[in-house]
Amino acid sequence: MKQALYFTSLVDDIVQCNLCPHHCTIRPNDTGLRRVRKNIDGILYSLVYGHPIAQSIDPVEKKPLFHFYPGSRTFSIATVGCNLKCKHCQNADISQLHEEPNFSTEISPDDIIRSALEQKAESISYTYTEPTIFYEYAFDIAQLAHSKGLKNIFVTNGYIETEAFQQIAPFIDAANIDLKAMSDEFYKRICGARLQPVLDAIKAYVENDIWVDITTLIIHGYNDDEKGLSDIAGFIYDINPDIPWHVTGFSPTYQLTEAPPTSVSMIEKAVIIGKDAGLSYVYPGNRGFGEHTICPVCGKELIRRDGFQVSTNKTLNNSCPDCKARISGIGLDWI
Ligand code: SF4
Repeated sequence: MKQALYFTSLVDDIVQCNLCPHHCTIRPNDTGLRRVRKNIDGILYSLVYGHPIAQSIDPVEKKPLFHFYPGSRTFSIATVGCNLKCKHCQNADISQLHEEPNFSTEISPDDIIRSALEQKAESISYTYTEPTIFYEYAFDIAQLAHSKGLKNIFVTNGYIETEAFQQIAPFIDAANIDLKAMSDEFYKRICGARLQPVLDAIKAYVENDIWVDITTLIIHGYNDDEKGLSDIAGFIYDINPDIPWHVTGFSPTYQLTEAPPTSVSMIEKAVIIGKDAGLSYVYPGNRGFGEHTICPVCGKELIRRDGFQVSTNKTLNNSCPDCKARISGIGLDWI
């Protein structure tokens, strides 16, 4: 347990959490909306500090990040909890808590860094659940990681307040941010959140020079209309057409079991919509095709991926070796 950052004291020991746009008001001895922050005698505490429920090595492609040190190893951690309640959550068993969590052992930020270095990771990923929910833990780990030469990656829903984001931003090197739909109604009904803070967060990440990939999970009948997808692509284009957009396929899960699995043709249509909007890199996700990086100028295949593995990387000095076009990304040919 660690005292939380970002809360204000109200009357009668009631506090307001200011970490994310929910701004939960929490009474003494109660927890916030997502049960991982507790008010004890007028002080807010993070209950998940030091208590990861997942630690594993992944290829960075699994986040997915396709233009950030391709083929590198990232030490991935998560705690329980999330500040959204998506009906289609793929990790609901660890993200959606119905009661206050209990932990026995504690793993310090030093322990995390030691494990990452032992396993020859190039970065730490805060992933699987929402890093904002374990902000204090992530913040301490991220600072240590930088001091040891490790990069930091947030895999996030983008639901964080500006002040909290600005404090941790200097320590984040890359992020994959979900843009679930260009619809406030979708965010409210399906995720229990709002759209605008996510759009603001995406812009803030880019303005802070953090490398960003964006992911949209396409669900038939919910967010697969052409206009909605075009609006997402247009939003990304207006920020930077070189931001990679991953359009991934849904499988029925958790509380959203009536929608069918996303068809390959729907994913292909989304890729065309992204390219027609002018995006340089649109990747069809988790359907086993088309996840290679192609030079947007001459069409040469530059990075070939088989699943999450990079099998060929022909980029040279972050450029196409044939036409010399600059390929956006960080450390593309780091090996
Ligand atoms: S971080 Fe948790 S407690 Fe704080 S405002 Fe968001 S949902 Fe509420």
